[in-house]
This record gives sequence, structure tokens and C-alpha cells, in this order.
Amino acid sequence: MRLDPLVYWFAQRYIAGTTQEDALDHVDSLNENNVKGIINRLGEHTTDRDTVEQSVLAYEDLLEALDRTEVTADISVKLTQLGLLVDTEYCREQLERLAEHADALERFIWIDMESSDHTEETVSLYTDLCADHDNIGITLQSVLQRSENDLNRVLDVNGTVRLVKGAYTEPPSIAYQRQSAVREHYEELLDQLFDEGGHFAVATHDRIIIRYALRLAEEYGRSPDGFEFQSLKGVNDGLAHSLAVDGYTVGEYVPYGEEWRSYYRRRLIERKNLALRVLHR
Ligand SMILES: Cc1cc2nc3c(=O)[nH]c(=O)nc-3n(C[C@H](O)[C@H](O)[C@H](O)COP(=O)(O)OP(=O)(O)OC[C@H]3O[C@@H](n4cnc5c(N)ncnc54)[C@H](O)[C@@H]3O)c2cc1C
Repeated sequence: MRLDPLVYWFAQRYIAGTTQEDALDHVDSLNENNVKGIINRLGEHTTDRDTVEQSVLAYEDLLEALDRTEVTADISVKLTQLGLLVDTEYCREQLERLAEHADALERFIWIDMESSDHTEETVSLYTDLCADHDNIGITLQSVLQRSENDLNRVLDVNGTVRLVKGAYTEPPSIAYQRQSAVREHYEELLDQLFDEGGHFAVATHDRIIIRYALRLAEEYGRSPDGFEFQSLKGVNDGLAHSLAVDGYTVGEYVPYGEEWRSYYRRRLIERKNLALRVLHR
């Protein structure tokens, strides 16, 4: 027996399937529970223009399908999927092309944040494009010490932030290593977002942070549609649904596509680290 079908069977917890139709079907079921989809076509670290072109075309096709089917969903992209490793200017053109297409169809694009090798280019490109495109948002990671400064840069251009802890292993010279420090930094950044941000996303399954966000919302007088919670497919699904039942705006990140291995590996590493944290308590 080949290993892949078995591994894929386990991976399906975290991904919707391999086709656009799989993703749309899953988002349909989310919408029934008042949860929007945030669809990512899997793929990253692309080094040739043909593959980048295929990704852009697939996202354009996805945007058209969202428009046709009227499902409630944003899309989420990685810049190394859109040519960041080919050439920065080329990547900017692809992102602008998608932003314009999405804008015409009244859709929103989130930019995922990848490992720290790409943080500066991602933030710079985003802050440059922000002036002309208000339908794009950027992900910032509380694991990185630099995120405080990056948040100020993004808020200066009225950008939209999705705040996450960070899924990549980063060195102590630039990143917090203790989970308590990552959470503390998350809460500091969140405080600033509630205080100064426009719309933003609290993307975590950490119940302590979610409770903190709910407290801040009350303190700052934010209405439930003044920000949103985001979760990952396959992670604490009940939590997202219960926040939606309470009237909060909730989105679920729904990845699909043939290139599911790197994404699945990150989720597995996360699970292994969580298990180690429990063992060492
Ligand atoms: C919408 C969204 C978009 C994201 N985009 C990015 C991005 O662009 N760049 C990036 O670096 N990271 C991204 N992430 C991932 C994020 O950085 C974290 O790695 C991930 O969310 C887990 O951290 P946590 O905040 O949920 O806290 P944790 O403390 O890690 O987890 C809280 C609880 O969630 C559950 N849980 C967490 N992970 C798993 C898992 N893999 N399997 C099963 N249960 C689990 C456990 O019950 C755990 O106790 C994104 C996350 C979300 C929700």
C-alpha cells in the first residue's frame, strides 16, 4: 500500500479536499452555521513563473466561483505562491492583479505570513499596496519580536490585520520561545488593535486569548461586527461555532489543493508541540 492515501486520509481533518469544489462544499456547510470561509489554495515557495501563473488563474477562477455561488468567503494567499521567490516586483503585480479582480467582485484577500525570511518583504509590499487597495489584509505573528513595529507600520496606512501566534519555528534572536511570552505579546498587540485598529481578525484557538478579546471588546465598546474571530478547519471547530451563535463574526480558514503536505506538516508539528507542553506541565 502506498503511504500517501493513508496520510491524506488523516490530513482531511485540516483540509477541505483537493479541488475548488471540495472547498466550496465545505464553505457552504460553514455558511449554514453563520461562519464565513477563508479559502486558501495550497501551494508555497514557487520558483517558476508558470506555476505562479497557474495559482493566480486558479484564484481568479475561485473569485468568479464565489461570485456565482454567492457563498460568504474571503480568500487567503501566500506571497511565495505569487512569485515572491521569483522577483518582488513580479509578486507585487500578481497581488495587485488579484486585489483588483477581488475588488470588482467585492471580495477580501488575506495575505498569510510565512517564515521570518519573508516578513520584511511581505510587510513592505503590503504597506505599499494599502494606499490603493482597501480589500487586502495582512497576517502578523506574535511569536516575532518585530511584530510590534510591524503593527505600527500597518496601522499607519490604515491596514487590516489578522493576528496569529505564528506557525514557524524561529530562532531566539528574533522570536519568543516560551508559550507564555508568545501569548503575552499577542495580548499586547491585540490591545493596540482594539484601541487603534479598524477592522481586524483575532485568529487563535487559545481560549485565554479569546476570553481576553471578549473583555477588550467590552472595554473598548466594539460591537461584535467591529472585528472578527478566525479559526483553522479541524481545530476546535465547536469554539468557532459557539462564537458565531453568540453573534460574533467568525471565519474558518479552509485550505484545499494538491499541495497539502507542507500545510499538514505544520499542523502536525503544532499538535506534537502542544502534547509536549502538556507533558512538561
Ligand atoms: C485563520 C488563521 C490563519 C492563520 N494564518 C497563519 C499565517 O498566515 N501564518 C502563520 O504563521 N500562522 C498562521 N496561523 C496559525 C497560527 O499561527 C497558529 O499556529 C495556530 O493558530 C495555533 O495557535 P493558537 O493561537 O490556536 O494557540 P495554541 O496554544 O497553539 O492552541 C490553542 C488550542 O488549539 C488547539 N490546537 C492548536 N493547534 C492544533 C492542531 N494543529 N491540531 C489540533 N488542535 C490544535 C488545541 O486545543 C490548543 O490547546 C493561522 C491561524 C488561523 C486561525
